[in-house]
Amino acid sequence: MKLYSPAAVRQVLDKYEFVFQKRLGQNFLIDGNIINKIVDAASLDSEDTVLEIGAGIGALTSALAVKAGKVVTIEIDKNLQPLLEETLSAYTNIDLFWGNAVKTDFDALISEKTQGQFGKNGRPYKVVANLPYYITTPLLMHALENCFNISLIILMVQKEVADRIAAVPGTKDYGALTLGVNYYSNPQKVFKVPRKVFIPQPDVESAVIRLILRKHPPAQVINEQAFFCVVKAAFGQRRKTLLNALSSLGIDKNQLSIILYDLGINPERRGETLSFEEFAGISNVLYPLISKN
Ligand code: SAM
Repeated sequence: MKLYSPAAVRQVLDKYEFVFQKRLGQNFLIDGNIINKIVDAASLDSEDTVLEIGAGIGALTSALAVKAGKVVTIEIDKNLQPLLEETLSAYTNIDLFWGNAVKTDFDALISEKTQGQFGKNGRPYKVVANLPYYITTPLLMHALENCFNISLIILMVQKEVADRIAAVPGTKDYGALTLGVNYYSNPQKVFKVPRKVFIPQPDVESAVIRLILRKHPPAQVINEQAFFCVVKAAFGQRRKTLLNALSSLGIDKNQLSIILYDLGINPERRGETLSFEEFAGISNVLYPLISKN
């Protein structure tokens, strides 16, 4: 069943008297062009397994299933069950899993649904989602921090979040989220999405991003925990100089100042001006001092 127009989507919703739950970020896609562009961004073929987060009424799910070998979709709202049974009935390569995506071990789920061919100890899979915006960052960091066997992530997110993820040093959008996502992946903004392609229309503009997962961070990081401690401290109070912000880690200011100058970094700079490499360099020198505090 093709759910590529407002009329087709409305017909299914009306038939089952579906009530949208705003708290679950339910903004369903109703535009075939946008759905196709998302699927194209994932460069799928019949060898691919895709994990989708949030099936909704299955508009993106079914479009993914046309291109990929297999689609596993996680949906939290059981009220969607009768709708999905109808809209996905023609597809034999879709597995629907009811649960909370943030609490799901993606590798274990994909491994189970593909008899071990993908996921844990198998081949890498792709993640594609029109994310529920109320949990964008936790879901994204869940997918990245657990180092699941994912090769590519295509996500619809709030435009403001896409801007922060793809920001460059020295801009207002650059921050802890930029560095966190860049640690695990190479992010790109793919295209902007107007509000009118959703039902109901969200309060914010949206954008699709592509994250190509990295095997290693873009610069050598000796201690991951120390790296994120330094990033968090540097952006904790954005208006502070690096010297003041990093002294919150419990390191003596004189010592800190010498370390920063040795690294060729002026302690009067602000965190938002530092590149990933500079953050890595600082954390590689500071980590023995941080772990002592
Ligand atoms: N993929 C559909 C589309 O593009 O039309 C629906 C996208 S809608 C923005 C987000 C979907 O995620 C909703 O169906 C919602 O019920 C579901 N959802 C919300 N929180 C979730 C969670 N924690 N785990 C899994 N699904 C969730």
